[in-house]
Amino acid sequence: MSDNSFPKVRLRRLRRNAKVRELLQEVRLSVSDLICPVFVQEGIQKPESINSMPGMMRLPLEHLAGEVKDITSLGIPAVIVFGIPSKKDEHGTSAFDDNGIVQRAVSLMRKEVGDQLAIVTDVCLCQYTTAGHCGLVNDGTIDNDRSIETLAKIAVSHARAGADMVAPSAMMDGQVKAIREGLDSNGFNEVAVMSYSAKHASPLYTPFRDAAHSAPKFGDRKSYQLSYTNPNEAMREIELDINEGADIVMVKPAIAYLDLIYIAKKLFNIPVAAYSVSGEYALVKAAGRQGWIDEDAVIHELLTAIKRAGADLIITYFAKQAAKFLAR
Ligand SMILES: [Zn+2]
Repeated sequence: MSDNSFPKVRLRRLRRNAKVRELLQEVRLSVSDLICPVFVQEGIQKPESINSMPGMMRLPLEHLAGEVKDITSLGIPAVIVFGIPSKKDEHGTSAFDDNGIVQRAVSLMRKEVGDQLAIVTDVCLCQYTTAGHCGLVNDGTIDNDRSIETLAKIAVSHARAGADMVAPSAMMDGQVKAIREGLDSNGFNEVAVMSYSAKHASPLYTPFRDAAHSAPKFGDRKSYQLSYTNPNEAMREIELDINEGADIVMVKPAIAYLDLIYIAKKLFNIPVAAYSVSGEYALVKAAGRQGWIDEDAVIHELLTAIKRAGADLIITYFAKQAAKFLAR
């Protein structure tokens, strides 16, 4: 019998009281890990609540200042901005309009909080096109190469408005390269690219589509988003994005994809972001409302699990709630 076993070894010694446990805690969730999503909608007068995402709102520009002050005062270091334009067209022109909803939101936030907040923008076409797909549609199919030119234009317009980072989420091939080149040739070589590299076609996005009015008008997104059955393909997507110049890679969704976060972090020496999506939020909120779970405790466990898997950053609708309980 080895010497290093019971009764000489008793792991419970290190769990015997709260202070000993605190000293030995390995993974510590911090407010600095969190990025808070913000939905800004053009043409509304008052904040609109999102049915399937209790506590989340679509905000008019006029309410944005208050919201970002709130977020910064909670110690959350970053936001990711999603825009809902009043006009959509075939080419998604409102997405790269310097006077568009995201562009105005970014410059307003910058004016309001200066460098007290990192501003990330979602770069995609689905909210801005009549077809509601993440790429431009040509004859019923997604035109990859024309789409990435437009995505680059969107990213440059967000950078011009003052974004620190752009986050392409369209899952078009070559989008990171096109965006990096667009940014660099327009003098924005300091703007980072956080790529939604391993974005999966997931039914867990449904509440978001309700929030951002971005459901596709025909078909689904399986010709560009990954299948959750293909972990090797997900790693190839991540590797390609790194080669194209991504500064941060992302796995989306998060809670059902902890293995992919873990593998990505082990394989690639690069910051990994995880996007805990609207369905993950809705499940916890629904059970919390019924009194079936202790919401704060469950949120703490889930976010810690995402960090434990290897995520350096977590985009989460729980950001404000978590910031409050982490401060207690
Ligand atoms: Zn999209």
